[in-house]
Amino acid sequence: MNTANSVRITQTAETIAHLMGIEVSPACDRPIDVVLKKADKAFGGNKADRVLLYNPDAIALWLYQKYNWMFEGVMLNSELTLPVRSVMPSVTPVCFGSMYTGLVPQEHGIMAYEKPVLKCRCLFDALIDAGLKPAIVSTKGDSLSEIYLERDMDYFFFDTPDECNEKALELMKEDKHDVIMVYNANYDAEMHRWAPEGERPLEALQHNSRAFAAFADAIDKYWGEHRTVLAYLPDHGCHEIDGGLGSHGLDMPDDMNIVHFYSFRDKK
Ligand SMILES: [Zn+2]
Repeated sequence: MNTANSVRITQTAETIAHLMGIEVSPACDRPIDVVLKKADKAFGGNKADRVLLYNPDAIALWLYQKYNWMFEGVMLNSELTLPVRSVMPSVTPVCFGSMYTGLVPQEHGIMAYEKPVLKCRCLFDALIDAGLKPAIVSTKGDSLSEIYLERDMDYFFFDTPDECNEKALELMKEDKHDVIMVYNANYDAEMHRWAPEGERPLEALQHNSRAFAAFADAIDKYWGEHRTVLAYLPDHGCHEIDGGLGSHGLDMPDDMNIVHFYSFRDKK
């Protein structure tokens, strides 16, 4: 049986844009209908005016299936779960390039583990053109700290995922940005070092879940006057290789099938 997920990671860019009432580009993959419908129900047909994009690295769909309880913080704070198919090669800059440009790798140009600044139009360009203020909070040197540089927006780079999450919570409290994108590399890093189901990687997986729950709490605390979207958006999955280490990059269900979550909160 072909178990490839039908929702595509390239649909994410236009989905987020449409949730805010804007468009990225006709070249992009189309938005995910059910996400827009769910938002319409939650917001009574109005658009979101604050979005928190949480990007944990390498969270495979099979992790959600096999270690479901480790996603408790995500499940308790989201209303929509989607199986999503990533792109090839299933490595970080290629997949996050597709996520926020809405283009397949052959179109956006990153087709290997390289981190050039993307010159094509992306979600962040569309937000800026609409007069909105996005921010990227990520760890230094990682893909999301590199490929969307050179835009007129705010970038905050740190050494650890915890510092990134603290900064994102601080930005939410200040409430000066319309869209905040946060990157957490911890599961991916531990998985490569110890194998996908090792003790430390699985602790990182749960750490990501708790981080998502903390962002949900912060929405209630700081963004209560806004219509908000909170999304959990990993880039690709992973699998175990000889020697017990973890890897990804192949065209196989373990690497290609991922899971995304969305949450919608109307103004209080
Ligand atoms: Zn990755």
